[in-house]
Amino acid sequence: MRLSRFLLPTLKDLPSDADTVSARLMLRAGMIRKVASGLYEWLPVGLRVLRRVERIVREEMDRIGGQEVWLPVVQPKNLWEETGRWQQYGKEMLRLRDRKDTEFCLAPTAEEVITDLVRREVRSYRELPLLLYQFGTKFRDEIRPRFGVMRSREFYMKDAYSFHADDASAEATYRDALDAYTRIFQRCGLKFRPVEADTGTIGGNFSHEFMVLADTGEETIAACSSCGYAANVERAECGPSADGGLRPEGQKEGHLPMDEVATPGVGAVEAVSRLLNVPASKIIKTVFYVADGKPVVALVRGDHELNEHKLKRLLGAKLLFKAGDEVYRQTASCEPGFAGPVGLNADVVADHSVMAVTNGVTGANKTDFHRRNVNPGRDFTPARVGDLRQVIEKDPCPKCKSPLCFFKGIEVGHAFKLGTKYSGSMDAGFLNEKGTKSPFIMGCYGIGVSRVVAAAIEQSNDADGIVWPPSLAPFDALILPLNTAEPAVMAAAERLEKELAAAGLDVLVDDRDQRAGVKFKDADLLGIPWRVTVGEKKLALGQVEIKARNAKDSMDVPLDQAAGILLKKRG
Ligand code: ATP
Ligand code: MG
Repeated sequence: MRLSRFLLPTLKDLPSDADTVSARLMLRAGMIRKVASGLYEWLPVGLRVLRRVERIVREEMDRIGGQEVWLPVVQPKNLWEETGRWQQYGKEMLRLRDRKDTEFCLAPTAEEVITDLVRREVRSYRELPLLLYQFGTKFRDEIRPRFGVMRSREFYMKDAYSFHADDASAEATYRDALDAYTRIFQRCGLKFRPVEADTGTIGGNFSHEFMVLADTGEETIAACSSCGYAANVERAECGPSADGGLRPEGQKEGHLPMDEVATPGVGAVEAVSRLLNVPASKIIKTVFYVADGKPVVALVRGDHELNEHKLKRLLGAKLLFKAGDEVYRQTASCEPGFAGPVGLNADVVADHSVMAVTNGVTGANKTDFHRRNVNPGRDFTPARVGDLRQVIEKDPCPKCKSPLCFFKGIEVGHAFKLGTKYSGSMDAGFLNEKGTKSPFIMGCYGIGVSRVVAAAIEQSNDADGIVWPPSLAPFDALILPLNTAEPAVMAAAERLEKELAAAGLDVLVDDRDQRAGVKFKDADLLGIPWRVTVGEKKLALGQVEIKARNAKDSMDVPLDQAAGILLKKRG
């Protein structure tokens, strides 16, 4: 490929609206352009990278028996109504009408459509298991599109769905998918980690996210320093004993008589802690939620955060949201900030750690007052106690009790055992060995192909630009003739191009009539793994210069051996 004929609009300056390294570099390297918020054009050099990721994903999906299909991006409302998700999906789903006024959405995912396909086409257990996948555009009207193509509204996903006659088969394919994902991200040259993810109300240990480790990641991973346990913090468990070593000071003190104290205008944990001179760990925070239409009061310690996923799971709730001030006032008969569990007429659930608090502080259910020396068990008894709080760094690992460490990650893939969630509500089933109808057991497996491209850059860049993992680079080698007007230089460049192309490499020749400085800068920005520079002076001695993008030094080699040396070094 000749750069003079290639659409590669590189930018010198930092695009002002790019909020991460990868977004900046993708814009600067001419990979993408923004059309509108969360909507991007992929230019030739960007698309080359996307296609390389796609190819790796396809090969590994085929290796585990996946069959590629292509599903519509415009999906009919009626299918989404069958599962109730037309209502549940909310504003992330973009809805539209056709000329007959029939309603559709732009696919944010495809469980409904694929389940519909399989219920029409598959009859018997003999046709199972089945693993179908597609590559395609997904649209989610993200509330805050950001980080370039990492969180865009339109993006490119590989989504796979499996259908099984029994659990054992579903679990076997789930494990195959995890293996395939591991190979995919290894082949992409990424540092990543599979972590346990939240399974919502389905439960079980059958959801894993694949996280690319990067400080700029939006997700937090809690990982054990010794046993290999790793989970999204949203998911990471803390058992009843998790607070054994972290109990608030003075835990052994005797129970004191409860009293009431005026705290005018002071409701927030930090302020109460200061005013009453008690550590936040002795304050019991009272948080109001509405679960499936009913008010619920959750208690966590002042130094902990409530985890909504855990609360939702403990309650078995379908819909959970934080209660507004009105619900708060009605339930606790006081202003927000002054509620507490003592004498509260409500459904109260508490985190394990709350039960270990001795002589704690809570709101008094009376505006401008708190209670001191509150003792769970003596002064109030929650209806349920469970794991409700977010883990914090150094919490004991739920498996082996070693301290947990936190890492930041970018979620690039997600595997989920769905069970009969969709097949059940869509009446999608097969005839089992006994001839009776049984719902498909399903799994789903997604990879954000376009997000992988950005994540790779996020993980591998330097002050000069992108440093591509070789498997994802838009080209394998860049040939950089310094003086394109010099016939000998161009002849040498062409010879190298032919030799490398003959060995199967994708080669880009920078044949632009540009200053050397401009060409070198663009070469570094583009991040192609190998650069061969052809200059008049060295060529007169029969030599060219080879440099790896991720190496400091270059080496001079004879022109007639250059291709061979590069291929050998590349491995
Ligand atoms: P997130 O928590 O980041 O919103 P998600 O849980 O909504 O992700 P899934 O529904 O599991 O994502 O989709 C599968 C994959 O699609 C994700 O692992 C991610 O790589 C990718 N993805 C999801 N949303 C976006 C987006 N807005 N832009 C780009 N890629 C995305
Ligand atoms: Mg999302």
